[in-house]
Amino acid sequence: MAILKVARLGHPVLRRVAAPVPVPEIRRPETQRLIDDMIETMREYNGAGLAATQVHALEQIAVIEVLANPRYPDAPQIPLTVIINPIVTPLSDAMEEGWEGCLSIPDLRGMVPRHTAVRLQAYDRGGEPVDLIAKDFFARVIQHESDHLNGVVFLDRMKDLSTLTHLVEWNKYWHERRWRDRAGGAGCSPHGAARSGPPSSRPPRAARRSGEWVTEPDPRGLRPATGPARYTRLCFVNNAS
Ligand SMILES: [Zn+2]
Repeated sequence: MAILKVARLGHPVLRRVAAPVPVPEIRRPETQRLIDDMIETMREYNGAGLAATQVHALEQIAVIEVLANPRYPDAPQIPLTVIINPIVTPLSDAMEEGWEGCLSIPDLRGMVPRHTAVRLQAYDRGGEPVDLIAKDFFARVIQHESDHLNGVVFLDRMKDLSTLTHLVEWNKYWHERRWRDRAGGAGCSPHGAARSGPPSSRPPRAARRSGEWVTEPDPRGLRPATGPARYTRLCFVNNAS
């Protein structure tokens, strides 16, 4: 595997539209190697996702993964997901503002409106069809990466550039506000506990301190068409309420 060179804003490749990968070619060694290299590159630079156009490959391939990510320390976790030839369909007109950054636009963050729920139709790296409903942060990352494959970057989606900020200033001035719009809006209970799901899946409340953000199982975060999957959501702990 190899770490690939990531195109930065201004490189024309970021404005090109990627071509679909013929399904029989997904399993070819060349495609698999590109996917492996994209995963390694995304992890190397702590990206939440990476689209092939960002590494100079005009193919409709994107990889997504959010585990313990220092660039997004409070973001809900998303297991490694490879999407090929994605078709993203909003499930409603509901939009939500949220912070985004991009490996191709280093050191900048901005608030971007995204659909809160989308249907993703794509292929996985085995060439198998994927058809799932994604919500909240996972839906946001899917829209961000899908945009890349169509030559669109997050700056194009911002309605108001006044939130555009460098990372140092973001940490200094925006840190406490970064998820404020999500407070209580993600289906969390007043104490940050899940409203649904088995009680055993809930972290002990005593371990939580008021004013903290915690992640917890999100039964609504993803409804996979097949196979087990569990995603987390971010909840604000407010023991005073
Ligand atoms: Zn990006």
